[in-house]
Amino acid sequence: MRVVRSIADLRVLLRTFREKGQRLGFVPTMGYLHEGHAALIRQSASRCDVTVVSIFVNPTQFSPNEDFAKYPRDLERDQALCMEAGCDVLFLPEVSEVYPTGYQTSIEPGRLAEPLCGQFRPGHFRGVATVVAKLFNMVLPDLAFFGQKDFQQTLVVRRMVRDLNMPVDVVVVPTIREADGLAMSSRNSYLSADERERALSISQGLFAARDAFSNGERNPSRLLGLTMAALAGVDRVQYCELVDAQSLEPILDTVDRTAALCVAAYVGGTRLIDNLILAPSLDDAGLNVSLSPTSQG
Ligand code: AMP
Repeated sequence: MRVVRSIADLRVLLRTFREKGQRLGFVPTMGYLHEGHAALIRQSASRCDVTVVSIFVNPTQFSPNEDFAKYPRDLERDQALCMEAGCDVLFLPEVSEVYPTGYQTSIEPGRLAEPLCGQFRPGHFRGVATVVAKLFNMVLPDLAFFGQKDFQQTLVVRRMVRDLNMPVDVVVVPTIREADGLAMSSRNSYLSADERERALSISQGLFAARDAFSNGERNPSRLLGLTMAALAGVDRVQYCELVDAQSLEPILDTVDRTAALCVAAYVGGTRLIDNLILAPSLDDAGLNVSLSPTSQG
């Protein structure tokens, strides 16, 4: 595995692969890697000739009151995980190079960035879209891999790729969970033992709604009620919503199309997000089918 820190070195190296006709896969991350990230890397390694992983804690996607400065970091462990999962090139850009002095240009996502996390993290998706576009320009990947764990992010990125005619296929990888159901997240490391226990109520709430959905429940209020009941274990629910999985508009009547059940909640001082896709028919179950770039029309 090659470790590259400057954009110029990355371009020189990746050009050699591209000139050989090799397919480049890209996994952007903020580091403090876990099995969720490893799943993305493995999927890229299985589908591409060369897998590039970036670790970059992106300052523009954090609000001033958020955890940018204390975001967890462990480069040594991350390198080992990358290598084990099949990464070929680890890219570690500097903030000063990604955001050159005088930087003043951003990507402004549209309506998909407004609901859910967008309501509570102003500017977050502008920061995400901007850094993803920058990283795409640096890596020029054929495929890019994102986790369903950050469901709204996958929609914002896909929309950007279509709207700006970027020649990248976006692949969404299912959420990897701990054995007890908790969605893996770098932020889980902030949780005390008691908080870790109470954080479980998020996935349990989602699973309760999923079970009712499998048994035929299609009423949004009742599905949300089941999730909210389990969420009594967290300290504060920021949102718990059932939305159309393509437009993110709330589903108010009956779940007759693919829906995303999305939760953001605080456990202690830690903000956690999770979601599940509820597909009324098997045809709708594969997210990559309904949302893939090949179905852009
Ligand atoms: P992050 O380092 O948190 O910015 O995440 C980098 C990528 O890994 C994003 O595409 C995330 O959606 C994805 N990811 C994070 N946690 C998980 C998980 N538990 N399962 C699958 N993908 C994940």
